[in-house]
Amino acid sequence: MDAALLHASHLVARHAAALGIAPPAVRLVTASRSPCYEALFNRIELNERTLALPEPLLSLVLAHEVGHATQRLALLADLVLTMLAVALLIAVPCVAFVFLPDDDLWRVSIPGAGFAMLAAVSWTAWRPHAAKRAIAMEIDADAKAAQVCGAQPALLALEALAMQGIVDAVRLEAMRGRVHGHASASVKNA
Ligand SMILES: [Zn+2]
Repeated sequence: MDAALLHASHLVARHAAALGIAPPAVRLVTASRSPCYEALFNRIELNERTLALPEPLLSLVLAHEVGHATQRLALLADLVLTMLAVALLIAVPCVAFVFLPDDDLWRVSIPGAGFAMLAAVSWTAWRPHAAKRAIAMEIDADAKAAQVCGAQPALLALEALAMQGIVDAVRLEAMRGRVHGHASASVKNA
């Protein structure tokens, strides 16, 4: 195994032990959509650009991905629910096709229009819910990263990653809130 990838695997194993889970596999990919955690295969995918990050950033990025690995059951449940919803969506016009009267209007036009309407309504209802859930998962993974790397180092790393366009403003703000929360707590405790 390439030395950089081996080092990343060791960091993943250390973070996973700190978060009390079995370490996910680590795989080098060429895709630009990296780093990412694949819940189906319990695998963290990294590209060369991620592996070349300076140590504190790499450690934070990997801790974040291990944070996603702690969410594996929830991520898999989301995947199954989405697949069931899509299957149901496809089943409705199929059932209508079988049971409705035998002419083109009832067998094609009405099930077709019904499917299009149902798909549009489901998409509109599902999209904001999915986006909100994805953000909550990201913020939770950042919280796990702060737990293993320390909140202040995690914030510094997130700020550096935000400058590179790898981390968005919502995650950065959530981490700032966490650090300031900790700061005020430690002032109170001092
Ligand atoms: Zn993430």
